[in-house]
Amino acid sequence: MSIADNLLEYKSELDKTQVELIAVSKYQEPAAIMEAYNAGQRVFGENIVQELVDKQAQLPTDIEWHLIGHLQTNKVKYIAPFVKLIHSVDSLKLLIEINKQAVKNKRVIDCLLQIYIADEDTKFGLGFDEAIELLRSEEFATLKNVRIVGLMGIASNNATEKQTLDEFIELKVLFDGIKVSFFRKDDYFKEVSMGMSGDYKLAIEAGSTMVRVGSSIFGKRKIKHYKTE
Ligand SMILES: *Cc1c(COP(=O)(O)O)cnc(C)c1O
Repeated sequence: MSIADNLLEYKSELDKTQVELIAVSKYQEPAAIMEAYNAGQRVFGENIVQELVDKQAQLPTDIEWHLIGHLQTNKVKYIAPFVKLIHSVDSLKLLIEINKQAVKNKRVIDCLLQIYIADEDTKFGLGFDEAIELLRSEEFATLKNVRIVGLMGIASNNATEKQTLDEFIELKVLFDGIKVSFFRKDDYFKEVSMGMSGDYKLAIEAGSTMVRVGSSIFGKRKIKHYKTE
């Protein structure tokens, strides 16, 4: 099936829900992104800063670009002028830098706290306690140009369906707790970014509001020359 066909299939499936589709276009050529764009998709996720910056410069300006991969503090400045949502905030230090660059660009940047839910050592993210500590800190209260709009998580690789579902439910429960404790009156705190090609159905079952789907829309990843961190 073509990229457009794959997208339309996801769209009709997700239309029954309130879940937003982030088309993960990492390692895909701009032509493939344009195919999705021409089929109506406007929200794309990338995980490498340089690749995101290069594509943003050459593709239509009404695309909403999300950064979903690990972000180094020294690279925030490159995406701060345009990024729509950063899914991968995993430290207060990073959030402070995003705030600083947002001030420079006279904007407020929406962010998700990436929470560590997987049962493995390789994934980035905050532990539950660390996330709460960050939100309680005096420093966080001074950051006026970042807005935490929810949480993001990545489930374990190669887990059983039950374990994957349990990990997503843990994230949703944490979201609900943080909502009540820190954002009760803030309508903007509403996003739970979880679910990828292999597990988005389980994520939706657990309460996802944003799924990040790459390979099952675009097929195999093509570009290899960008350096991962
Ligand atoms: C690559 C990636 C995805 C998409 O993965 P697929 O399995 O291709 O759907 C989602 N989230 C993050 C953080 C990623 O790096």
